[in-house]
Amino acid sequence: MDEIRIRGLDVFAHHGVFPEETRLGQHFIVNAVLYTDTRRAGLTDALEETTNYGEVCQEITRFLQDHTWKLLEAAAEHTAQHILQRFPLLSAVDLEIEKPQAPIGLPFDTVSVKIHRGWHRAYMALGSNLGDKRGYIQDALEGLRQNPQMRVGRCSTLISTAPYGGVEQDDFLNGAVELDTLLTPWELLDELHRLEQLAGRVRKIHWGPRTLDLDILLYDNEIIRSQDLTIPHPDMTNRAFVLEPMAEIAPDVLHPVLHRTMAELLDELRERESC
Ligand code: AMP
Repeated sequence: MDEIRIRGLDVFAHHGVFPEETRLGQHFIVNAVLYTDTRRAGLTDALEETTNYGEVCQEITRFLQDHTWKLLEAAAEHTAQHILQRFPLLSAVDLEIEKPQAPIGLPFDTVSVKIHRGWHRAYMALGSNLGDKRGYIQDALEGLRQNPQMRVGRCSTLISTAPYGGVEQDDFLNGAVELDTLLTPWELLDELHRLEQLAGRVRKIHWGPRTLDLDILLYDNEIIRSQDLTIPHPDMTNRAFVLEPMAEIAPDVLHPVLHRTMAELLDELRERESC
């Protein structure tokens, strides 16, 4: 990925643990690497094809001056997120905030916190088989859209499918959605649980009826096997109601463990099912 680099942006602001720091203010030095594809701007020589580093510097300055955080960690975290949300062509940012006048009481050059943050491409399965199924799924999509840390991309057609797992219940409505997010996989899972709860979901029977079921299918190319989270979703390859919507919105996306595209996985599942 190409980089636009900012070094030594001097911002007078009011961050710090001590009351004198928030009262008097001090200099903060910001270094940033903006990750973005500069190819089109390079070929066209057009400012609108790139991210204007002058605007980024102004935005960082204004944002750091409009807020007060105790920790450099918080200042860096919020500023990185703000920049990524504000400038749509950026895929990631390295942000370092130095505090050369930090009240340490010892001779030192500078102290800093440096972080790397970026957008992650995730795919999620959507399902409902109770009440206003389409309404629950649309509300969930709206909930995702309202979160500034999410950008909802392609959404599949919603398909009606027979229930799974042998419990007597109504048909499901299923789909899949593409999402760019600043959240970690666990933060995303918490957000999905929050939306499920908003839909009044009660976890009573495994594979039982539910107003809303949101699962993380893929998150970048990450492979996660923890107690509360498995990515890629372990059941996605056995479920036509997941692979069909995925093959519609992301046919060429590769499963990071099986190294098969969504379209190939769907074909293979259909072959197995027809045997
Ligand atoms: P479900 O009944 O499908 O909503 O799943 C219940 C639990 O599965 C959640 O509370 C998660 O802790 C766990 N889980 C594991 N992997 C995933 C995943 N990829 N997406 C969603 N939930 C997951």
